[in-house]
Amino acid sequence: MLNKTKTYFIFIIILMVFVFGGWWYANFLISTSNAFKIKYYQKQARQMRKNAASLISQQQMLTMLIAQTLSSSNQLSRDLLHSRLRSSNDRDYFKRLASKIDADTLYKNLWIQIVNKNLDSVYRSWSHKTGDNLSKLQPELRFVKKYKRKISSISIGRYTISIKAISPIFYHHTFIGAVEVISHFSPIVKQLDNSQISSITLGKKSHKYQLGDSLAKKYIRKYFIADDNSSHKIIKYLKIHGVKKYCTAPYNVDLKNNRLIVCYKLKNINHQTIGYFIMFDKISRDTDMNLKYFTFKWMVINIIAIISLLLLLSIKLFISNKKQKKYYQNIIDLTNNIIIITDKKHIIQTNKIFYKYFNPKTRLKDICLTNYFLPKQDYIQQYMNGKLWIDYITLHPDKKHKVNIQIDKEVYYFTVSVSRISNDDNFCVVLTDITKEEIYQKKLEHLTITDTLTNIHNRYYFNITINHELQKIKRYNYPLSLIMFDIDFFKKINDTYGHDTGDKVLIAYTKLISSMLRSDDTFCRVGGEEFIIIATYTNLENAVVLAEKMRQRVQNFKEITAVTMSFGVVQYENKEDVEHLLKRVDNALYKAKENGRNRVEKG
Ligand code: GH3
Ligand code: MG
Ligand code: MG
Repeated sequence: MLNKTKTYFIFIIILMVFVFGGWWYANFLISTSNAFKIKYYQKQARQMRKNAASLISQQQMLTMLIAQTLSSSNQLSRDLLHSRLRSSNDRDYFKRLASKIDADTLYKNLWIQIVNKNLDSVYRSWSHKTGDNLSKLQPELRFVKKYKRKISSISIGRYTISIKAISPIFYHHTFIGAVEVISHFSPIVKQLDNSQISSITLGKKSHKYQLGDSLAKKYIRKYFIADDNSSHKIIKYLKIHGVKKYCTAPYNVDLKNNRLIVCYKLKNINHQTIGYFIMFDKISRDTDMNLKYFTFKWMVINIIAIISLLLLLSIKLFISNKKQKKYYQNIIDLTNNIIIITDKKHIIQTNKIFYKYFNPKTRLKDICLTNYFLPKQDYIQQYMNGKLWIDYITLHPDKKHKVNIQIDKEVYYFTVSVSRISNDDNFCVVLTDITKEEIYQKKLEHLTITDTLTNIHNRYYFNITINHELQKIKRYNYPLSLIMFDIDFFKKINDTYGHDTGDKVLIAYTKLISSMLRSDDTFCRVGGEEFIIIATYTNLENAVVLAEKMRQRVQNFKEITAVTMSFGVVQYENKEDVEHLLKRVDNALYKAKENGRNRVEKG
């Protein structure tokens, strides 16, 4: 049997693991799901920024391509050299190019500007204004003039934030000016719009001085709207929720409005942030569902794992428990003693030998051991001195306890010992079968106290009993009389009919006397044909009456042959010893013989 404490301990550990594990796991799930969400949004935001970057770089490439194409035109360089550009304002090449791009691409409204070697504007496709010097306003133009190299950038100009490509114009390897091609964010906004992503280009108000003529002329708090085509919904949204947080954090999640808001910072050639391209993507319900499904799946997998683990542990415990039980069962089955585990009320467990005595078909719980106890003195009863037998035996472990049991007419004797099972409310009762020894012992006892011929008690028993009675009288003081009697002329019977007939006479007359006695009287053969009756609770008068009755019955019995008997009767006198009492009764009998036999004499 597995120790109960150990089982409790394991159980508590499992419970603790379950409770703390569950608590930890719940937290883990929440953080996992949050981490998963964050990762998902991060990934989405990264992808959106990548898209924006790729669209911007595509547009930069195209802008650059146009700038390079124009700058390599010989006619343009000649016109520029001879300051003929103003007059060739309507020259075909600009118009043709612009209309072709307008028709075939997303890039509408491309702006072209030509500057001379002093960086004075000499041609603007979107305005008639020329002659202003741009070297102060445009660091990109200063870069191109200084390094004679093309440049592509995002910049903030007089009108808006735009994507720019500047390509130097050479005449016979001499820098004579530059072509600037400007495109706006509207194609990018349009392309993103096709993928359900709304966007807006914003610049800080602090750049306002550069914006001589803002195109949109719209502002949201400290930011200006750089493109005119921005959706009203977005503008309204930003007005309500503010702009700053969307410009500073790489992305924001607005679960209430199902929006993922991603910011792509627009930087100039000096890597200074000059604006913000803000994209609004819808968080689809699918994404949220996916997250929930993912969380749910993990939860189910983990719960199954925990349950399986617990199940496995329980099975393992169960098997080891069973193995251990079997091991102990085998041990207790080896013994010839009955071993019973009980909680004082029911039998919980027992061993094989138990069923040698009890019906194997009876359920253990239905067997009440005390129902089989025989009510005999010196043997264990259900209650001993007011205590339950198990408690009584436990309290007196050094005594030899015996129990007399009857099962289906069979009587058994057992010694019984009880021990408490440590840390348990159960008791182990061990019953050792001593039936054979007990019966032998009883036979032996019977033999030592019984006369073999007449089967009444012998002289030895008389001695024990009379001493025992006199002891009791000292305490309880009750009357006791002795009746001693002897067959008259018995020798003659032997002589006349033979010794065997003499024996038969002894047996027959003993039976006659026995039939006249009470169970309290002790009848003993103390000599060849001499007998004594110890009559307890009987005074001299009553003893004489009894003796007289016996004398008469003997006289009238005449079984085998006519017989008479002489009787001496005495009553125990206070503080008299056994020898004196015997002497007195012997004298009384002698007196009866002397006075003619077949009579009763008091002493
Ligand atoms: P009374 O007592 O009347 O004086 O005469 P009595 O003949 O009985 O004399 P006594 O008591 O001296 O004799 C006893 C006789 O009993 C002697 C013996 O042979 C006989 N006797 C003793 N024990 C037994 C016995 O076990 N069986 C038989 N058959 N006879 C026995
Ligand atoms: Mg005699
Ligand atoms: Mg005699």
